[in-house]
Amino acid sequence: MAGSFTCGKVIADKWEEFKKRVESGEDPKKVLDDLGLKRYCCRRMLLSHVELIDEVLKFSFPPAREEEAEEEMEYE
Ligand SMILES: [Zn+2]
Repeated sequence: MAGSFTCGKVIADKWEEFKKRVESGEDPKKVLDDLGLKRYCCRRMLLSHVELIDEVLKFSFPPAREEEAEEEMEYE
């Protein structure tokens, strides 16, 4: 089985800090070491979430709103 209840709990506890530090530019693997996540299964689970962070960052800014010009062109 991939992961375990232990992993789930560990990750829930560490995720916020992990995310914060990775977002601030730290090496994810180093952060895992600092957080004491030595088990490969836990590291892999958090590291797989890093890819999600990229997505979050990418979309953290509201997309430029396309102002739909609703000018009614009147052709005569
Ligand atoms: Zn684990």
